[in-house]
Amino acid sequence: MNFGTKLIHNTNDKDKITGALSIPIYQVSTYHQEDIEAEQEYQYSRSENPTRRAIEETIAELENGDRGFAFSSGMAATSSVLSIFSAGDHIIACQDVYGGTYRALNRIFNRYGIEVSLVDTTDLGEIEANIKENTRAIFLETPSNPTLKITNLKGAVGIAKAHHLLVIVDNTFMTPYLQRPLDLGADIVIHSATKFIGGHSDVVAGLVAVKGKALSERLYMIQNGFGAVLGPQDSWLLLRGLKTLKVRMDYQQKNAEELAQWLSNHEKIQKVYYPGLLGHQNREIHDTQANGAGAVMSFKTVEIETAQKFMKMVKLAAVAVSLGGVETIASYPVKMSHAAMPKAQRESLGITENLIRLSVGLEDIKDLIEDFDKALAGAE
Ligand SMILES: *Cc1c(COP(=O)(O)O)cnc(C)c1O
Repeated sequence: MNFGTKLIHNTNDKDKITGALSIPIYQVSTYHQEDIEAEQEYQYSRSENPTRRAIEETIAELENGDRGFAFSSGMAATSSVLSIFSAGDHIIACQDVYGGTYRALNRIFNRYGIEVSLVDTTDLGEIEANIKENTRAIFLETPSNPTLKITNLKGAVGIAKAHHLLVIVDNTFMTPYLQRPLDLGADIVIHSATKFIGGHSDVVAGLVAVKGKALSERLYMIQNGFGAVLGPQDSWLLLRGLKTLKVRMDYQQKNAEELAQWLSNHEKIQKVYYPGLLGHQNREIHDTQANGAGAVMSFKTVEIETAQKFMKMVKLAAVAVSLGGVETIASYPVKMSHAAMPKAQRESLGITENLIRLSVGLEDIKDLIEDFDKALAGAE
């Protein structure tokens, strides 16, 4: 079955009891137990809830994992995954890892004795060179944020297997439609489902898909033990959002391709970062591991002033953090997502004052281009 069909026809395409084409929202905390001697499937909603289970089964199915998990945010998902490690363990993470993950690693998990090295994972040699005796995992994002750097997933998996390390991939930018890291040998995939999976800027949620029974059991113990679970209402929003993932992504990606092309020919633009553009670094690698370039890009203006004016003038893009919604979203990393990062570190990652990140939405592309043209000119 092809992916688009699987989004509509999967284990949870209808309610097993009534045939309802929308899985009911089981707004419940606890369940009557017929027989206290018997094991019952549902006992308490932190442990199991039917609506949450539906989205968990669905993400596992879409990522070709053995088990899925739903958490109260992308960061709850990431922190729960990181909680499978112990004091003394070392993790290698890509140097431009999501800001929240950076904070969790460097301000929370470090206090529990989990050590991290931030590495330029686009260079496989750098991964290899940073492996230590106590290294347990490689944590990757590809394409990364905000300059869409590409890491070779199969190459990283090869190195990890040789050293018995887990590979964890934050697949938020790509979604399971465009990239399925578990098929390439990764062990755990994480999503901020707040983004493309929810797709409508109306829910904060995280999803995880895991390969293998033992690892699944380890993560279930954390999910139930730590307790950062997703509520039934929000689980339902993700089930609904997922049904249109392919049509949204196809259209948003097409818009993004046109916009990237247009921006790269604009005289006020210095550089466009988008894996769909010829000449994007490691584009050939991206094309072997993903089915498309997605709908997130960033660009640098020639003058800093142009970028700042653009952020003031643009009308058809929301000025916001986040991405993956139906509306185009423009963000200014220096003042928004990466404001807390020291300037020198920011600049070494290419996050400069002329950089703007875009998540391209479902608007008519002609309107977007017209509006962007005016905003780049600094005109009302
Ligand atoms: C937003 C985001 C997260 C964090 O997810 P929340 O749902 O905001 O907690 C993690 N990784 C990436 C790549 C993100 O874009």
